[in-house]
Amino acid sequence: MNNFEYARASDVADAVRRIAADPAAKFIAGGTNLIDLMKENVARPSRLIDITRLPLDQVEETRDGGLRIGALVPNSDLAYHPQVEARYPLLSSAILAGASQQSRNMASVGGNLMQRTRCPYFYDTATPCNKREPATGCSAIHGFNRGHAILGTSEDCIATNPSDMSVALAALEAVVHVTGPSGDRAMPLADFHRLPGDTPHVDTNLRPAEIITAVELPARGFAGHHAYLKIRERASYAFALVSVAVGLELHGDVVTEARLALGGVAHKPWRDPEAEALLRGRPATAEHGRRAADALLRGARGFGHNDFKIELARRAIVRALGQAARGSARG
Ligand SMILES: Cc1cc2nc3c(=O)[nH]c(=O)nc-3n(C[C@H](O)[C@H](O)[C@H](O)COP(=O)(O)OP(=O)(O)OC[C@H]3O[C@@H](n4cnc5c(N)ncnc54)[C@H](O)[C@@H]3O)c2cc1C
Ligand code: SF4
Repeated sequence: MNNFEYARASDVADAVRRIAADPAAKFIAGGTNLIDLMKENVARPSRLIDITRLPLDQVEETRDGGLRIGALVPNSDLAYHPQVEARYPLLSSAILAGASQQSRNMASVGGNLMQRTRCPYFYDTATPCNKREPATGCSAIHGFNRGHAILGTSEDCIATNPSDMSVALAALEAVVHVTGPSGDRAMPLADFHRLPGDTPHVDTNLRPAEIITAVELPARGFAGHHAYLKIRERASYAFALVSVAVGLELHGDVVTEARLALGGVAHKPWRDPEAEALLRGRPATAEHGRRAADALLRGARGFGHNDFKIELARRAIVRALGQAARGSARG
């Protein structure tokens, strides 16, 4: 049992002040990931700073026609929010493909972005893991790596990011708003999560003592043609082996705008503008889908048990593009 202190932040500035004063402290929101990590002795915060009473639980329209989503909006409230269901159904689908209703009721938007990998070695303190304990080695590279990454890996870590919500946010080109000791700043979701490189213990580009305050969606929501296809070991309560978020705009059967992001395959949601460019100006056919898939999966590499993911991802991309083009979520 590790002792820890508990404090409740009274406002955002207080939360930042408290965490800046104790770098071993952690924010707690829904607790659905952090408490598990503490129980497994993977996270050992000196203090929990409860942020659940901060006024970050609103969904508001922005001046340029988008939506600003507070970091404490519960995942289920967001998925069923009328504006999100009507204008960003891709985001609703991705959230509802994750976890369970009970977990989604507790889980916050900020916590979802910050949740840690589900690599089993990361949770097993008896095994080496560079992410949990830098410079100890990676047990997954030559171990059981069925669920691991095929893109953007390094010699130090082949873990995946487990968030479904982030994959849809990447396709929608969301922006993450944060506040820290130096004030407010914003970064595209594409720059929020990092590849492992030689610092796999650092998951995101959040700076020390920063708090996520909101996620902003631009006006374009791909409500007419979208799909979130999640392939997993069982139908519910399982993380993605591969997931695909697609948003299309069509003129007749010709694609005029395309977004394509993958989950379950890398340390961050995986996008490549070149793959999307191959779809624009062309009919939404399976052949063009396969070309885009090949471009998006360029450089993909398996580690033995997860070799199957490369072909699985290729087929999932083509299927999801077809679903989005038809405007139907059915295969
Ligand atoms: C059984 C189970 C199945 C699951 N399946 C899926 C799934 O299929 N797909 C999926 O996407 N997710 C899944 N999840 C994960 C779930 O979505 C996350 O645990 C949840 O989103 C985390 O949110 P939280 O508010 O509970 O975070 P917490 O556990 O409270 O915090 C997680 C981390 O985020 C940090 N944090 C929280 N809020 C902020 C903030 N505003 N600013 C900075 N840091 C912050 C905390 O310090 C902590 O490090 C599953 C979870 C469980 C338990
Ligand atoms: S893949 Fe990453 S998280 Fe998993 S054991 Fe290797 S270093 Fe640790």
